Amino acid sequence: MKMKDNENEFENSWVIVTGGSRGIGRQICYEFASKGANVVIIYLKNHSAAQKTLTELKRFRGSTKLECVDVSNYDAVKKSFLKIHKLCGTIDVLVNCAGIIRDDTIDRLSIGDWNQVINTNLTGHFNCSKNVLGIMKAKNYGRIINISSVVAQMGNIGQTNYAASKGGIIGLTKSLALETAKYDITVNAICPGFIETDMLKNIPLEIKQKILTKIPKGRFGYPEEISRLVAFLASPKSGYVTGQVLNINGGLYM
Ligand code: NAD
Repeated sequence: MKMKDNENEFENSWVIVTGGSRGIGRQICYEFASKGANVVIIYLKNHSAAQKTLTELKRFRGSTKLECVDVSNYDAVKKSFLKIHKLCGTIDVLVNCAGIIRDDTIDRLSIGDWNQVINTNLTGHFNCSKNVLGIMKAKNYGRIINISSVVAQMGNIGQTNYAASKGGIIGLTKSLALETAKYDITVNAICPGFIETDMLKNIPLEIKQKILTKIPKGRFGYPEEISRLVAFLASPKSGYVTGQVLNINGGLYM
């Protein structure tokens, strides 16, 4: 395959980013758009955040589309991805980034909050991956990048639901990588540590200070640091990296 220079690396590629309206997902959308990709931003609820991302992506030369769909709803994802494929003609990269938290210790955690987190964070990855695989297999090429978390590896008080969902993503990633390697489809997971986004803003200050003391780098991560790693894994040049779990956490977990 002829390799392109970095700036145009994703020219003519179509990239779907779930959870692309804000935070880490938004930065991932910028990263791809700045490297020439056409980007589909998938999000739920926050229309003004999604609109802001869309507006900012318009300054790059690729096409951009917004799609409001609940990744936890299999039928809705199927319908939406069929529509995207029809409109775009192909899908080269899927970044499963949509995720939520509903924190509480298990004695207080409701079954509703357990299910919502599992259905969004884990089943959402299944729903989206399943609905791009036919397209990727048919063209013998694809890149799937799943966003897990350091919490899957370390555990965290008040996050049994979140840790279980993110741990499930690691198992899903490795199994799917085995199933798809022969089609030049790679599937990898990234485990970010604590990253400066709205998700982090909800953690009380004293807990944040306590977390900081445990991070060898002495700071939280930036969304740009995650998006660069995503772009590396999504590159056509990274075809020999599959089934891997890449940690990016400032040394919090080694
Ligand atoms: P965020 O809350 O800022 O953004 C979440 C995104 O997911 C939004 O675009 C939202 O619309 C979308 N979303 C939520 N539920 C959805 C659903 N059912 N269907 C479709 N879209 C949905 O979150 P963030 O901090 O940017 O985190 C992004 C990802 O990175 C998440 O999977 C999160 O678990 C993971 N992560 C974050 C951190 C961190 O410190 N911020 C650390 C490790 C992993």
